[in-house]
Amino acid sequence: MAEAFRYCDELGPEKIIEIYDPLSQLKAVLVVDNVAKGPSIGGIRMAPDVTVEESVRLARAMTLKNAAAGIPHGVGKSVVVGAPRMATTDKEQLIRAFANAIEVITDYIPGPDMGTNEVAMAWIRDEIGRAVGLPREVGGIPLDEIGITGFGVTVALEVAQDFCDLQIDGARVVVQGFGSVGKHAARFLADKGARLVAASDSRGCCLNAAGIDVQALIEFKEAGHPVSEFSGGEALDRDAVLDVECEIWIPAARPDVLTADNIDRLKTLVVAEGANIPATLEAERMLAERGVLVLPDFIANAGGVICAAVEWMKGSETQAMIEVEEKIRANMIEVLTAARDENKLPREAAMDMAQGRVLEAMAVRES
Ligand code: NAD
Repeated sequence: MAEAFRYCDELGPEKIIEIYDPLSQLKAVLVVDNVAKGPSIGGIRMAPDVTVEESVRLARAMTLKNAAAGIPHGVGKSVVVGAPRMATTDKEQLIRAFANAIEVITDYIPGPDMGTNEVAMAWIRDEIGRAVGLPREVGGIPLDEIGITGFGVTVALEVAQDFCDLQIDGARVVVQGFGSVGKHAARFLADKGARLVAASDSRGCCLNAAGIDVQALIEFKEAGHPVSEFSGGEALDRDAVLDVECEIWIPAARPDVLTADNIDRLKTLVVAEGANIPATLEAERMLAERGVLVLPDFIANAGGVICAAVEWMKGSETQAMIEVEEKIRANMIEVLTAARDENKLPREAAMDMAQGRVLEAMAVRES
């Protein structure tokens, strides 16, 4: 826990709660970072190995994301310790226990994240009456099913075309983490003429320089197979995605996968951050020095949270797509323009923009 305090500052966190329930064997962490803009919304991650420190950092990335996206919500982030692929009955028991444990934290509205999905959100709403990212059948906009975060990443890349030599039509794409974000980003980019040349998951990598059939790989993966067993490509080790030459490299898996130690391996024009905090600041700086444009996570991958806010306000799927497109396009233009004109990293320009928006909201709440 002490490590996590290093990340506390004027913006938050407002609460860090560690939860242990001996009956259900639930171990979890909830971080409510900042609620100046409204009750917090944020994903529940299920992972075997997440620290409080990582939860605090993830929550802050989300605070900046919500503020940048201009939605009337602060941020909470929670982690339930467990294997994401555990048996459904065990997962249901843990998630329901988690829901009951956080019932009293009424300024936190849970949503899906890695290892949880729409069904898990339905269990939570069943227990405590509040959750976003619900199944369509109970009034939700199933953001992972429609792939709205991957759609937003594609919008960010469209903007990037005006700030570097990127042309999406004909571009080679590499996706690290062919899950909800990664596979849909690949699908939307393929619709615009890009070619998926490599994709990985936690078990391996699939490579095909001539182009992978994205829809076929999605169906193969959804049937429960690892991408490395897909017949439309060559099987490689998981981290071989770092070495595949491309124009667009999309991290869509875990935090801190790009560091000073491995960044030399990337051969790309643009890194579009689908995952949260996938690169260290040092790695982003080194990429900038090499002329690689990095589209920061909390601008490029804000599609999910914008969608969740639309759902909470009882909006439609069409409204959500329109909002995601408008907000990510406007923010990406503002950030990349400031980065270019003020000679900053895109992340620095994005932080200035987002922090300014949180502080403005805090000032209004305090006055
Ligand atoms: P997911 O669980 O659907 O997919 C993650 C994929 O990454 C899986 O295929 C998994 O096998 C793979 N993976 C895990 N570790 C890996 C590794 N070391 N190398 C390669 N692949 C690996 O999760 P998701 O919803 O797609 O989320 C992915 C990332 O995007 C997370 O950082 C999440 O916080 C972030 N994110 C998700 C959303 C959303 O709408 N789902 C929104 C914003 C940000």
